[in-house]
Amino acid sequence: MDPLTSPEPEYLPIRTETATASTGPLALPGLPAGPVCAECMGPAVVHWQRRPTCDELDDILRTEGNRRVQALKLADVQKPAPTFPPLPTAADTTRIVHACATHAITIEAAALIHASFCTAPNEADLPGCDCTPEPWPAAPVEEEQVWALPDHWVSGGQ
Ligand SMILES: [Zn+2]
Ligand SMILES: [Zn+2]
Repeated sequence: MDPLTSPEPEYLPIRTETATASTGPLALPGLPAGPVCAECMGPAVVHWQRRPTCDELDDILRTEGNRRVQALKLADVQKPAPTFPPLPTAADTTRIVHACATHAITIEAAALIHASFCTAPNEADLPGCDCTPEPWPAAPVEEEQVWALPDHWVSGGQ
């Protein structure tokens, strides 16, 4: 048999070309190009957010610190030195957690921000998780409208 032709080509899925096209030259062989499930490393289809752990926040602060040092070095000395907003804190930083369809938490839980110690997606807790996600921030109180257009300026008015 000719080794270059497969015996039943019509039954073989043609995946080689698409897989090569979707992974760049730097992608590791055998790993999906996109985000992967935190539980099984399969291709992710959903994601949610959780607060960073202390180590992750340290990484974020180190990266931002380096960026600021670099910005100061590159700054134009003829102009005022660049100023920066306060460094991010855990309260205004989140990490994205990816999961495949099998290891997805509920859509209600995925809409909330989870605690830094949340282990979802963890098969023992699915489709829930082991933290109490942060509640939605309270909706801003709508100020009462103190002005109004005259009736003849409103579409459908008189
Ligand atoms: Zn998974
Ligand atoms: Zn959680």
